[in-house]
Amino acid sequence: MEMLEEKLKIDKISKGTVIDHIDAGYALTILSLTGIDESKNLMTIGVNVSSKKYQTKDIIKIENVFLNETQMQQISILSPNATISLIENYKVIEKKKVELPKIIKKLILCVNETCISNSNEPIDTEFLVLDEKPLKIQCVYCERIYNLEAIVFTSKEKKEKKIIQRIQL
Ligand SMILES: [Zn+2]
Repeated sequence: MEMLEEKLKIDKISKGTVIDHIDAGYALTILSLTGIDESKNLMTIGVNVSSKKYQTKDIIKIENVFLNETQMQQISILSPNATISLIENYKVIEKKKVELPKIIKKLILCVNETCISNSNEPIDTEFLVLDEKPLKIQCVYCERIYNLEAIVFTSKEKKEKKIIQRIQL
């Protein structure tokens, strides 16, 4: 009975990516911050799915999409327990657990305007991970501390700049 229930809730995909063991309630944040939500492919999102390991979890299945390295690193920041499975012909061909690094380079923007990472100097942002859960990171240059809600990914900012440029044209 339990097996059947599990099957009904989480449909198998023939090819693509399954992001599993996402902290409950974070699936939508992951989709928007990584830009996965811009994909036109079929996505199945389970929020507050019951889990043996973590009581409840979120799960995302995306057909015909494989994540890039940046997206996987972003997921490690947003949900450090997540696992990422690559699917081909309905089978898992590779399964990885994301890993939150001790120092996060380039991925996150420091929004402090006076921070040296925002000057004209060619300096990449760098954050020290103070706490994993709940996430607390600190800019190594200006020492400003950020929690999960305050994080801005650099890739998102680049995209927004492009959109602004397009509007101005
Ligand atoms: Zn800073």
